[in-house]
Amino acid sequence: MARYTGPSCRLCRREGEKLFLKGDRCYSDKCALSRRESAPGQHGARRTKLSGYGIQLREKQKVKRFYGLLEKQFRDTYDKAEKMSGITGENLLSLLERRFDNVVYRLGYGSSRKEARQLVTHGHFSLNGKKANIPSILLGVGDVITLNEKSTSSAKFKELAEKATTTPKWLESNADKLEGKLIALPVREDIDLPIEEHLIIELYSK
Ligand code: SF4
Repeated sequence: MARYTGPSCRLCRREGEKLFLKGDRCYSDKCALSRRESAPGQHGARRTKLSGYGIQLREKQKVKRFYGLLEKQFRDTYDKAEKMSGITGENLLSLLERRFDNVVYRLGYGSSRKEARQLVTHGHFSLNGKKANIPSILLGVGDVITLNEKSTSSAKFKELAEKATTTPKWLESNADKLEGKLIALPVREDIDLPIEEHLIIELYSK
C-alpha cells in the first residue's frame, strides 16, 4: 500500500501545528516546528489568510497526516463512514482509530503511528492468534493483538509496553503478556486529537 515517504516534520510545518509523527523527538526541543514555524517552500514565510475552502482542506490534510493515510485511503474510509448509521464525522474518526496500526500505537508498541505501522508491516504482531501484517485491517470488539513469540524477547517492546501508562478506555492492555484487546468501539470523546471533523464533512459534501 502506498504511503508518504518524505520528511515528517515538513508535514507539521505545512499544517502549522504538531502532528506528533516522530515519537519522542516531538516532545523535545529538537522538534522542527518549535525551531521554525514557517510553512515549507520558497514562500512558506508568507502565510496567507485561508478561505473557507482552504480551512476545510487543511483540516482534512491534517487528519490524513495524523493517521498516515494518502488521499485514496482516506476517501475510502470517509465513504465507509458515510454509509454507516450515526454521525459521519464521528464514524470516520472511529474507523481511523480502529486501524490495526493505530491500535498498536495506542497500546504503546510504537512511539508514533509511523513506527507502529512499520512494526505491523514487519510482522511483529498476531491478530486473534494469526500472523497479520496489514496496517489497514479494521479491528472490532473482542479482537486481540499479541506480540509474536520471536519479538517478545526484544527489550525494546517490553520497554515500550511498560512506558505505555495511559491506554485508552476502549482498549485493554496486558503488559506482561504483551497483548492488547479491543473491548469497545472508540467514540468521539475517546479521541484526544484536535480535530474539527465537521470541516471534513463540509469539504467532501461540496
Ligand atoms: Fe512534527 Fe514531531 Fe517533527 Fe515536531 S518533531 S515537527 S511534532 S514530526
